Amino acid sequence: MIDDGPKSPTFDAGQRIILPDLEKLGADSVDLILLSHPDRDHVGGTGALLKAFPHTRIAISQQFLTDPHLQAELGEWGMHTGDILWLGDSAQIRTGNFTLTVKDPPLPAGAPDNDGSMFIHLVNGPASAVFSGDADASTEIRMEPTENWSSEVLKVGHHGSRTASDPSWLFAVHPTYAVVSCGRNNDYGHPAPVTLQNLEAVRAKVFRTDLQGDIEFDFDAKMGFVPSTP
Ligand SMILES: [Zn+2]
Repeated sequence: MIDDGPKSPTFDAGQRIILPDLEKLGADSVDLILLSHPDRDHVGGTGALLKAFPHTRIAISQQFLTDPHLQAELGEWGMHTGDILWLGDSAQIRTGNFTLTVKDPPLPAGAPDNDGSMFIHLVNGPASAVFSGDADASTEIRMEPTENWSSEVLKVGHHGSRTASDPSWLFAVHPTYAVVSCGRNNDYGHPAPVTLQNLEAVRAKVFRTDLQGDIEFDFDAKMGFVPSTP
């Protein structure tokens, strides 16, 4: 799992969305949760998931080791620093038949958490996807040369914000499908019109959680990822 959604006093994405979805899928365990960065809209569901699946491992970039928000979250999850798999600049992880290449952009001093978001390239035969958390365009440009990011599916950076999805990054990934995760009628105006235009320019078919709810892909050993959301 890559990130697990928001939590507020009235809404817990882990409890309300992810656990029911996992039950529908018949999942009886979660091997690993990669948390892109410690913002509450990305790590909020972790507590509920750990309650349901206490053997799940959690991986986070080591540059967030002393992050005060994250330390508070760990306390809420009943975890200690030593329970987390802290990832360095680069890591390869095998899970099932998927290989995950993880790259953590060095977070410049004083830069917001977003720009330390984990970049993940997930590959299984013809199926491939890229995730970049809430990293901004300058971080995308810095990360571009570190890997061949070309992928079928792009999880569009920073909820489709205009501050991410640099045209050169979109060109490097050249996705067939692009998924924007953002709230219905959100206050931020995600996704930005310019982002949608840039996605159109690389001819990606765009899916949006604000309009379509859950976006699902099936895995096919010959075809790769096949969207099952119309
Ligand atoms: Zn976010």
